[in-house]
Amino acid sequence: MSNEHDNNKKFGMVIDLDKCTGCGSCMVGCMAENNVPFRKDETDKLVSLTWMRVYKLTNGKDFPNADTCYLPRPCQHCGGKGDHGHSPCVSVCPATATDYGYDTGVVSQIYTRCFGCRYCMAACPYHARYFNWWDPVWPEGMEKMLTPDVSPRMRGVVEKCSFCYHRWQEAKDKAYVEEREVEEAEYQTACTEACPAGAITFGDLNNHDHAVYKLKKNPNAFRLLERLDTNTKIYYTSEREWVRRAGDNYLEGEDPKSVMKKMAHKKGGSGH
Ligand code: SF4
Repeated sequence: MSNEHDNNKKFGMVIDLDKCTGCGSCMVGCMAENNVPFRKDETDKLVSLTWMRVYKLTNGKDFPNADTCYLPRPCQHCGGKGDHGHSPCVSVCPATATDYGYDTGVVSQIYTRCFGCRYCMAACPYHARYFNWWDPVWPEGMEKMLTPDVSPRMRGVVEKCSFCYHRWQEAKDKAYVEEREVEEAEYQTACTEACPAGAITFGDLNNHDHAVYKLKKNPNAFRLLERLDTNTKIYYTSEREWVRRAGDNYLEGEDPKSVMKKMAHKKGGSGH
C-alpha cells in the first residue's frame, strides 16, 4: 500500500526483551543467510564472527530476586547526531567502505573497498563489527548451501549486519517489475523469521502501517546508549525497569528521565 513515506524509508527493529529466551536461533539464522563462516572452535570471542550476538544481562541480585534478560544485538544502523547519517563508523572510515543509505537508513559495508584498518570497530559503541581473520572455509558439501545473493568475504576485511539488504533488493526489484509497492511481509530479515518467540519485529519505522511504527512508541521502548545520540534503529522493549536502565548504563541512583531531559536541553542549546 502506498503512502507519503515511500521515498524516505527507515528500516529498523523492535525487539521485545521480555519474549526473548536467549535460544540463539537469530544468530544461527543470520549466519546461514549471510554466509558467515565458522570454525570448529569459536570459543575465542575476540576473533569469532557473529553479526547478531545475544548477550546475557543479570540484575546482580541473589536468589530469589535474581533476574536474567537476553539481549540480541545486531548492528544498530545508527543515524548519527541529529539523524543526519553521521554514524560513528561511517564518520571514521578512511576508505568510504561503509556508508549511510539515506533512502533506507541502512548502514552498508562494501567489502571490496575495506582494507582492514579496523577504525570502524574502534568507533562502534555497540561492538557490532567483526574483523575477518581467515578466508572462509566450509565443511564439504556446505558450499552448495550458500546464499547466492550474498558474497562471502575474504580475510582482512570488516563485516557486519546489513539488515539482510539483499532481501530488500530482491523485494524491490520484484515490486518494480510488477509496478507496485513492497509489502511489509516481503522484506523481513533472517533473524526476524528465525525467532521462535516472535520477539523481533522488523519494518519501516517511518511507515504508519508497519508494526514497528506503533511498537517503537511503546512507553517501555528504549534504545541502547541513547545518550550518545547515535540515533539507532533498533528499539528494545521491556516491562522490567532494571533492563531499561541497563540499556543506557544508568548509574545507581541516576534518574533516566532527568538524564534525557538534560540531553534534550543540551541539544536545544547546540541547535540540534
Ligand atoms: Fe556503525 Fe556500530 Fe552504529 Fe552499526 S552499531 S552503524 S557498526 S557504529
